[in-house]
Amino acid sequence: MAEIVMGGLFMFIFKETSRNAYDGHRGDAIFAKNYYLQFKLRLPHPDTIDQVMRELPPQLVEELKAHLVSKLFEQKTLRKFRFLDKYYHIAFDATGIQTFDKRHCEHCLTRTSKTDIVTYFHYVLEAKLVTSSGLAISIASEFIENRENRDFDKQDCEQKAFGRLAVKIKKQFPRLPICILADGLYPNDTIFGICRANDWRFIITLKDGCLKTFHQDAGLLKATAKGRSVYRADKTTRTTLEYKFLNDIEYKKNNYSWVSCIETKVHLSDKTNEVQQFIYITNVPQTLDNVVNTADGGRLRWKIENEGFNTQKNSGYELEHKFSRVSYNAMQNYYQLLQIAHMINQFVEKSKDFIDLMKEHSKQTIKALWNELSVFMRTIPYTEALFEAFISG
Ligand SMILES: [Zn+2]
Repeated sequence: MAEIVMGGLFMFIFKETSRNAYDGHRGDAIFAKNYYLQFKLRLPHPDTIDQVMRELPPQLVEELKAHLVSKLFEQKTLRKFRFLDKYYHIAFDATGIQTFDKRHCEHCLTRTSKTDIVTYFHYVLEAKLVTSSGLAISIASEFIENRENRDFDKQDCEQKAFGRLAVKIKKQFPRLPICILADGLYPNDTIFGICRANDWRFIITLKDGCLKTFHQDAGLLKATAKGRSVYRADKTTRTTLEYKFLNDIEYKKNNYSWVSCIETKVHLSDKTNEVQQFIYITNVPQTLDNVVNTADGGRLRWKIENEGFNTQKNSGYELEHKFSRVSYNAMQNYYQLLQIAHMINQFVEKSKDFIDLMKEHSKQTIKALWNELSVFMRTIPYTEALFEAFISG
């Protein structure tokens, strides 16, 4: 079983992009030998991996992921990224992973176009640890699946999946101090209640029109908002950020805080101005000392889309590739293995050795280095002596 699960994991760690590509490497004698010498495991046939993935309960692979992630929290490396020296930023968002023009399984969600064309697809709600350094690590995932055989309504289903995902996170990480980051679909009393029950903090994007009474109260009180401004400069831009906050705004018998950040960015090259406003609702009472961290924390939500979903779709992990066309069970297992592989690779790509290597080859991309790793595995017969020579430089 270790060889089979590791084989599936390895497919993603090596960014193999398909089961066929993996099988091509597996058939290469030098590659297989190097793999064996590194891991003391054989490379299984992709059909064998697939058969197991169709049968293996996905919660087992997810528990493996949770176990690895809990080790990360035990280490001190991620502590410096915590909000208020206590809470880990956990961003929630859903993304589409597969689309089919015929029904793929009984859990497919469906959407009917104006011309009556039915599309079948799968969506997953992710909870990812995000850091200002650019990590986006899956701590738990929940598939949004068709249970009542009706048309897909993103908001409705994503909200329900949030409830299930919250239960899962509380079970797997019962004492983890969490600060939830989420987009404009999330500010509502159900979500606030789940956070309150779990003793979680949240910083949630507030869009115009939602939480009407909250908006009205914030509007009336705006003149009294306290705040501070921050100036940031880099090689190409000069940025002024105006932070403002209001506390004790009542919404459905509980009090929350309102946070606003207006960012004015001047591009030095053409002297153009870019102005953006970000508004959040939070259950963290605001002060002049924490308002900057709160609003900046709220903006980390983007990392689940960029470093999270975009990287997994477009940078070698092929999140949308149909690793299994027939089995929903296998699809979920491949999804979890991809999450574990991406976590491992992020730590490699942020390691000092790797960053030094990128500097040495300044025109190299991560993708090109990964190709070289694969070429190395296929061409350099690995020996213990060679390995020793590498280590001793
Ligand atoms: Zn399906």
